[in-house]
Amino acid sequence: MEISNNALIDRYKRHLNYLRISITDRCNLKCLYCMPSGPAYKMDHEEILRYEEILRIIRIGIRLGITKIRITGGEPLVRKDCCDFLETLGRLRGLNDISLTTNGVLLTDYIDRIIAAGIKRLNISLDTLDRTKYQNITGVDAFDCVWAGIQAAYEKGMYPIKINVVVLNGINDDELADLAALSFQYPFHIRFIEYMPIGQTRQCDKAPLLYPDIRSRIEQLGELMPVARQPHDGPARRYKFNGAIGEVGFISAVSHHFCEQCNRLRLTADGRIRSCLLADIHEDIKTPLRAGRLDTDLADVFFRAVERKPFQHAVKLDPTAINGEMVSIGG
Ligand code: SAM
Repeated sequence: MEISNNALIDRYKRHLNYLRISITDRCNLKCLYCMPSGPAYKMDHEEILRYEEILRIIRIGIRLGITKIRITGGEPLVRKDCCDFLETLGRLRGLNDISLTTNGVLLTDYIDRIIAAGIKRLNISLDTLDRTKYQNITGVDAFDCVWAGIQAAYEKGMYPIKINVVVLNGINDDELADLAALSFQYPFHIRFIEYMPIGQTRQCDKAPLLYPDIRSRIEQLGELMPVARQPHDGPARRYKFNGAIGEVGFISAVSHHFCEQCNRLRLTADGRIRSCLLADIHEDIKTPLRAGRLDTDLADVFFRAVERKPFQHAVKLDPTAINGEMVSIGG
């Protein structure tokens, strides 16, 4: 099979140019909506792709038309030498957008190196402004640390900083307006994400809140005005309050899926190319890679994942459809 640019076009004519990479299934938090309940299953170190293996897959992806990469996890910053890896990534030719998703716990320590590596865009998860609630959600008393990390990134000029809020009915739904109000004070993009039923997580007893309810709570602050879409926009619908310097966004993968515009593939920490976050469809790329196969064989794995990419996910119809765990797939 020939490797040629722009080759990753699926059966529904979607051009896949965005690879999200989970570099570890380890995390320094245990968020109730993300980590499976019960004893944590951890991959053996040998199961997890080595950096040089990830880089080889990325180089092949670039030759196939991947231009955009997001590094995620688990928590990417807990993996040893993550910043060295980011620096190598920043030097690769052919990528025009490299971003990082982090819980922010280690951000103060690493922000200078993240910036030096050329990471321009940062997503930081923060579901509450209440320290005790933060500990209840994540299992760790780290709110102050995360807030300091966000401030450090802001003071060092990172833009945009996107704050990801997973909406948890009965847990942080009373704080949505307060979180959205950060956009008056900071140029942050506060993004409200519908809880997705993935794996064996323990969200809460109440039914997940969906976009219309989430939006109406935030609109208590004022009218939301739509913001024009930009080239690097993902699935978030973007809005702004009059007088705000930041933005508010909604990611409603469950109630209003955005599958028709999906341009993503995922590389899981254990070396599978996953066609869709919300469907257990993946192709093993680690086995042929470790067997010393040619780049063209590994490109075939990309093609098979692309071929199997579903037109849309079925989470709304069957919320039990996904067995994979977010922590290893990478959100
Ligand atoms: N550790 C990093 C972090 O906390 O941002 C990166 C990994 S985390 C899996 C990536 C994103 O997935 C986070 O923004 C997180 O809030 C989101 N996420 C995890 N589980 C989710 C769920 N069940 N529903 C919706 N979003 C979820």
